[in-house]
Amino acid sequence: MCRGHGVWVLWKRRAMKISKNHIVRNKLAYARGERPAVDCILCAVALDDPLVDNLVIFRRDGWYITLNLYPYNPAHVMIVPERHCTDPRELSEEEALQMHRMQALTLNVLEREYRPDGFNIGYNVGRSSGASIDHLHLQIVPRYPSEVGFFDILSDSRVIVEEPRTTLKRLRAAFAEAEKDAKIMT
Ligand SMILES: [Zn+2]
Repeated sequence: MCRGHGVWVLWKRRAMKISKNHIVRNKLAYARGERPAVDCILCAVALDDPLVDNLVIFRRDGWYITLNLYPYNPAHVMIVPERHCTDPRELSEEEALQMHRMQALTLNVLEREYRPDGFNIGYNVGRSSGASIDHLHLQIVPRYPSEVGFFDILSDSRVIVEEPRTTLKRLRAAFAEAEKDAKIMT
């Protein structure tokens, strides 16, 4: 099984906006306004609304972790508060601590399951940030030494090594396993 050292490639032919070493939005159709008819996609996911794809991997205490539908890399996930807020300053101290714990858990699970060589972690806040969803979410993008570069993606020339549904299964199993392990549950 791929442990994250293989070449990752696009799983579907799609124009992408890539900015190396930054959290990027690569969902041009979405950005053009082709989106489900819900007020907020991440609120809809929180409520299990059938109008949106449910890629949730793990839920705890008013938070969920979901696979990014348009991943930059394998196991690109987002940590999301179930309540709608748009800026990290809106989080209470308790919520900020919960976010920190969800982040630590996620890094532990991703390291164990995918063996990445690094991570990009961040929020997009505000209109000019590149955020396509205003509901606060922390992006966690694992980085791999062998990942494809900008031109590989543009040329769409590689073979698929992991389809997102496979990633979803692996991560759901990995988080379920983590729940039994006090060492990585934070
Ligand atoms: Zn929302």
